[in-house]
Amino acid sequence: MSNKFLQLKIISHYIDGALVEPSSGVYLDNIDPSTGECYSKIPAGDSVDVDLAVDAAQRAFPQWSQTPAAERSRIMVRMADLIHEHQTALAEAECIDNGKPLSLARQMDIPRAEDNIRFFATAILHWSSEAHIMENRAINYTNRKPMGVVACISPWNLPLYLFTWKIAPALAAGNCVVAKPSEITPMTAFLFSKLCIQAGLPAGVLNIVHGLGSAAGEALVNHPRVKAVSFTGGTSTGARIAAAVAPTFRKLSLELGGKNPTIIFDDCDYEKMLRTTLRAAFANQGQICLCGSRILVHEKLYDRFVADFTAKVAAMKVGDPLLEHTRTGAVVSEQHMHKILSYIELAKEEGGAVVCGGKRIILSGRCAHGFFIEPTVIVGLGPECRTNQEEIFGPVVTIQSFSDENHALRLANNTHYGLAASVWTSDVNRAHRFAANLESGIVWVNTWLLRDLRTPFGGVKHSGVGREGGWEALRFFTEPQNVCIELD
Ligand code: NAD
Repeated sequence: MSNKFLQLKIISHYIDGALVEPSSGVYLDNIDPSTGECYSKIPAGDSVDVDLAVDAAQRAFPQWSQTPAAERSRIMVRMADLIHEHQTALAEAECIDNGKPLSLARQMDIPRAEDNIRFFATAILHWSSEAHIMENRAINYTNRKPMGVVACISPWNLPLYLFTWKIAPALAAGNCVVAKPSEITPMTAFLFSKLCIQAGLPAGVLNIVHGLGSAAGEALVNHPRVKAVSFTGGTSTGARIAAAVAPTFRKLSLELGGKNPTIIFDDCDYEKMLRTTLRAAFANQGQICLCGSRILVHEKLYDRFVADFTAKVAAMKVGDPLLEHTRTGAVVSEQHMHKILSYIELAKEEGGAVVCGGKRIILSGRCAHGFFIEPTVIVGLGPECRTNQEEIFGPVVTIQSFSDENHALRLANNTHYGLAASVWTSDVNRAHRFAANLESGIVWVNTWLLRDLRTPFGGVKHSGVGREGGWEALRFFTEPQNVCIELD
């Protein structure tokens, strides 16, 4: 694959091992957020396409689930190798599709997509189940069986990274998958489908149906032959999916939104904290579910922090994501840009002061019609206001101060979300104590976004249910059956 893919602008579904057109013949526009122009066409998948994909997956299941783990692993390792081989083209596609800086796609998104596949391809070789011996009476063993056809639905912010994070454990465990990437960023999943064909993945084992959530997504979630749904996206979409899945008693994993606190104590390593807090706030234009969008600072450090942080934010350059030196690119769509700008207006109405940024940026040249926003810092808001409660999912952070540890904890836990938190302190006792009391699925101490793929990943409260990562993901995608044998 070379940059020739840019001329190949029509995206296809990947169903039953082949690249196919949507059965309706209808396509949607795919917009490059850095130019505002349509640069490719996406199949508007519907229930007919989803049916075809589920049929193909169901046909492939008996053989794939019986294929020895070593062989499944071999094919998946080949898929990871091909991502590695085509990393440059994939990073460029991710950058154009999403508006993120090419440097970020290269350093984070594509290497992590490769790691996801390789991790589960090799984890399955070490996967074992349990036995429970009832002294001289009986032996129990747990048979963990792949489930059949499962659905994986992913968002636009880390397109190939989150797509592979969902499908890899499902495939490794012996399931067949129907996946739906976000309609806003479909390109890398499409390119990946070509790599699956090249890797020799048998037809029907993975099917990729493109299209809107309200059409292809709903048809997939409601399909009676889909045994489990793994979803990553917004909390309101998650609630809708939960309502559809609950009456059918199928397995459901939901990875949802966040409003993550960064908690800064006055004994922290200040320089490292400043650098990392900046990255946590604005990486990928603040469009990472784990971004620290509420910064809580000890009152002794507050004035110094606001001055230093604001100076660093003001120095950030927003630019053409395709340029090598760009570190902050476009937000993902025009609609999303307007949503973010409306939150900045709301913050002002709520009494907040915008101390940095706050406006749309109009760049010149190629990106004159792109969707760019200044990195924005807001102070002076109380914890209960909507700006501090709702997920904005853009380059906008608020800063609040706290007086002591209890106050910091109350502020940190004071939202419906509970995805991630980052705590900055040199006091190891406080770090453990504080982490234990945080209502958060993930806690980083003196760091951010450092991930070991073996650890459980996910949020609490409105940030989700279920855990991904490591053995948790393989457990999710298998059905445990206990076999009890009485001994004579
Ligand atoms: P979204 O909920 O709008 O869409 C996510 C996916 O769901 C897309 O593929 C979409 O087409 C599909 N979808 C939409 N409606 C559907 C329906 N009714 N039935 C089935 N599928 C449907 O989310 P988004 O805007 O793409 O992503 C941003 C959100 O994702 C943010 O809230 C962010 O915090 C969250 N997110 C969470 C994590 C995590 O791991 N917790 C990771 C990344 C992003």
